[in-house]
Amino acid sequence: MRCRVCGGLLEPRITDLPFKTGDSSIVILRSLPVLQCRQCGGTELEQATMSRVDQLLSRVDGSAELEIIRYAA
Ligand SMILES: [Zn+2]
Repeated sequence: MRCRVCGGLLEPRITDLPFKTGDSSIVILRSLPVLQCRQCGGTELEQATMSRVDQLLSRVDGSAELEIIRYAA
């Protein structure tokens, strides 16, 4: 798999990523497995990770401006 932005090599990494869930609410997912580009630092999610992220985000009520959730596979 290659970076969509620059075509660089993607490496698996564990990181924390913010996701916007509404106009003023953000969820930070901790310990998320991502693919990160060696060249530009851009991140991509694998399909399975993306589905799991969608599940986690759909459970957030959105009333808090900032919520931190630990990603667990
Ligand atoms: Zn890149």
